[in-house]
Amino acid sequence: MKIIEKISEMQAISLNLKKYNKTVAIVPTMGFLHSGHLSLIEYAKQKADVVVTTLFVNPKQFAPHEDFDKYPRNIENDSKLAQESGSDFLFHPGILEMYPKGYSTSVKVESISQPFEGDFRPHFFEGVATVVAKLFNAVLPDIAVFGQKDYQQYLVIYRMIRDMNFPINLFLAPTLREADGLAMSSRNVYLNREERDSAAIIFVALENAKTAIAMGARERKIINAMMHKTLRENPSIRIDYAASAVADTLDTPDEFLPGDKVVLLIAVYIGKTRLIDNSLTQIPTVLDKDPAAFLEDSTI
Ligand code: AMP
Repeated sequence: MKIIEKISEMQAISLNLKKYNKTVAIVPTMGFLHSGHLSLIEYAKQKADVVVTTLFVNPKQFAPHEDFDKYPRNIENDSKLAQESGSDFLFHPGILEMYPKGYSTSVKVESISQPFEGDFRPHFFEGVATVVAKLFNAVLPDIAVFGQKDYQQYLVIYRMIRDMNFPINLFLAPTLREADGLAMSSRNVYLNREERDSAAIIFVALENAKTAIAMGARERKIINAMMHKTLRENPSIRIDYAASAVADTLDTPDEFLPGDKVVLLIAVYIGKTRLIDNSLTQIPTVLDKDPAAFLEDSTI
């Protein structure tokens, strides 16, 4: 696996691969790779001839009070892991390569960026859309793979690809979890032992709401209240949001309709660490005796 730091070199490599009819997949990451990231690389490898993993901790998506400076970094280990997972290139530009002096352009995706994460991190999705657009223009991929772990981010990128005519096929890869259900995240290293144990309640809250939906719950208020109730079992957890929405629009009707695909979204602080997670499900069209029957199709 080759490490590339310059945008012009990355573009030249990609254009050359296209000459030989090779398809290129991009897997954008902020590094400190864990098995969740690696599963995206493996997923991408099945979809394209060549996989470019990108590693860039993007200052534009962090507010001044957030964890840009202390965000975990380990480039040596990341390149080893990316290579072992089948990545062909690691695109690792420096901050000045991405945002040289005088840099003034940003990409703002309206509407889908505004609720949930957008409410609590107002500049976040503009930073994400801007850096992803730049990474797309550097890597020139045919395919992009993003994780369901950051579901709203996936919707924002989906919208941007369509609105800005990027000739890229977008794929959503499933969330990898620890044995107790906690979604893998680079930020999990911030958790102390006690916090780590209590973080499993996020998954329990998602599963409880999913079961309630399978058993007939359709009112948004009731579904949301169920997640809040589970999370509040641990008084040290601070909830930013625990809410349900229509999966592909993030609309928030009073009541979902049979057949609606629904996303359950949670963002909480455990101590000083902010964690997000989500789950996709569907409002049953006919109530069945076996709730699990409704949980099988969890993609949109
Ligand atoms: P990040 O490095 O946190 O910006 O994440 C890079 C990519 O990995 C994003 O598309 C994430 O959604 C995805 N990702 C993060 N955590 C997981 C996970 N536990 N399982 C699968 N994909 C993940």
